[in-house]
Amino acid sequence: MYIRLKRKLRQSQKLSLTTLLTGLVTLVVLLTSSILLLGSYESKKRSLMETTLHLNYLNADRMSKTMDSLFQSMHGTLEYNAARLSDIEAMPPQEVNDSLDLMRSSSNFFNSITVVDASGLIRNVSPASLGTTGKHITSTNSKEALALRKPYISSPYLTANTKRLIVFLSQPIFDAAGTYAGIFSGTIYLQENNVLSEIFDNGQEDDSGTYYYIVDSKGHLVYHPDKARIGTDVSSNEVVQQLMNKQSGEQPVTNTRGIEMLAGYSSVPANGWGIVVVSPISQIHQELIGHFRTLIGYSSIPFILLLLGVILLARKFARPFVYLADVVSKMGKEQIELQEAKRYWSREAYLLTDGVSLALGNIQQQTEQLTHEAETDMLTGLMNRRSLEHTISQRISSGIPFSLVILDVDKFKLVNDTYGHKLGDEVLKHVVRVIVTSLRPDDVCYRYGGEEFVILLARTKPAEAFSAAERIRLAVERSQAPIAAQLTISQGIAHYPSHAADFTGLLVKADQALYLAKSRGRNQSVITES
Ligand code: GH3
Ligand code: MG
Ligand code: MG
Repeated sequence: MYIRLKRKLRQSQKLSLTTLLTGLVTLVVLLTSSILLLGSYESKKRSLMETTLHLNYLNADRMSKTMDSLFQSMHGTLEYNAARLSDIEAMPPQEVNDSLDLMRSSSNFFNSITVVDASGLIRNVSPASLGTTGKHITSTNSKEALALRKPYISSPYLTANTKRLIVFLSQPIFDAAGTYAGIFSGTIYLQENNVLSEIFDNGQEDDSGTYYYIVDSKGHLVYHPDKARIGTDVSSNEVVQQLMNKQSGEQPVTNTRGIEMLAGYSSVPANGWGIVVVSPISQIHQELIGHFRTLIGYSSIPFILLLLGVILLARKFARPFVYLADVVSKMGKEQIELQEAKRYWSREAYLLTDGVSLALGNIQQQTEQLTHEAETDMLTGLMNRRSLEHTISQRISSGIPFSLVILDVDKFKLVNDTYGHKLGDEVLKHVVRVIVTSLRPDDVCYRYGGEEFVILLARTKPAEAFSAAERIRLAVERSQAPIAAQLTISQGIAHYPSHAADFTGLLVKADQALYLAKSRGRNQSVITES
């Protein structure tokens, strides 16, 4: 009992083949999909990064070319007008002012234009409202430009009186005799509407997060969407350093605020400035998330179908083995109905099922034969005492009334003694033939032992049983036995349930009746007295 319990427990701890196979294929499908997704994620990320970097570079390059030609034009304008002003001493100041106003409004290059003489005195200004006419230049940049006597571009700086952040471009002025006469400069107000914002601002309103900024040759911001940052020093930025070395290119970079960016940059030959177009890396992550949402959206239904498909396949593969395990585990415990060996997909499943079916068929056949042999008498072919006991207990438990006749061959010892045991056997077989031919279809005869037989007569009252017994007795008496002597039988009859309620009681009663028949002279039938 304990061992069986332990075995049951151990069986319940084991995984079933179906669960195992289903789990395995599910795991494989999930892992494969994850690996594919991960691979696709990495390659998509790389391609997005490369594309973004390159697009940013292309934009920076395009803008740098625009700026290059813009600055060439600006210098050209200054140069042309500086030449026209070579004779400035002779020109009335108002005429100069008008010509400056015209130049400023027609080209739109500069927010203000100034003429400074060789001594540093501001002679003319447009717009005149600035009110610097007649004053001396104060900024280091202006002094540097004046001293340099060459085309010049300043760094961004704050003006002393108007507190404006500006850069200026200047051209030297030489008079007709070639004497240095001062500088002609155009100013850009960096934090106000200017030529740069007019040309480059469109497109800056991009919700992808991409933006650009412009640095001068010393690494100061001259343009940035965040106007407050214009003028600050960003030379620590790796990309800005590349630009300060007149390099162009593309690379990931962490900006001065610690944010990871994808930068494309291009330096401008005309002024030594540089343009940087940057996209935050978070923008790529967002695109990737979007990409994966769509991917999962498109692939989820095929994925679920695939998963269901492989689970069904796994179950189909497992089925023959599950069936076999079930059949074999029931062996010896209950009657097994064998299915026909199906045409399974796998050769092993087919061979195993076929083999087990064959073995099981043989075993069942042998078992049936053994059972039959155990219940049958070899000599007469009748069912034996064991079978009789079984049938009677069945009838008693289902409460069906019946009569029982116990039949004994008279003086059979004498037959044996006279004719030998072998002929005695023949005589017994002859008696059985006579009995069986005299029985009604529902009556059954058993060999009870030696030369004694029991006949069960279903739903038969004692009186009917008596006439049946008498019919048999007369048939035996009249039959031609394989011996010379006449053969007779004696019989005792008992009835269930009127004479006894159990097997032993019933046989005792029938035996007593038989004893009476013998003692009354044999060759007769006696009913148990009620
Ligand atoms: P009674 O009329 O009182 O029944 O006399 P009997 O000689 O028939 O009684 P007894 O029980 O003394 O003898 C039965 C004999 O049946 C004894 C035994 O040798 C014989 N016998 C039992 N089984 C077989 C068998 O299978 N074959 C043969 N040939 N003889 C058997
Ligand atoms: Mg006997
Ligand atoms: Mg006898």
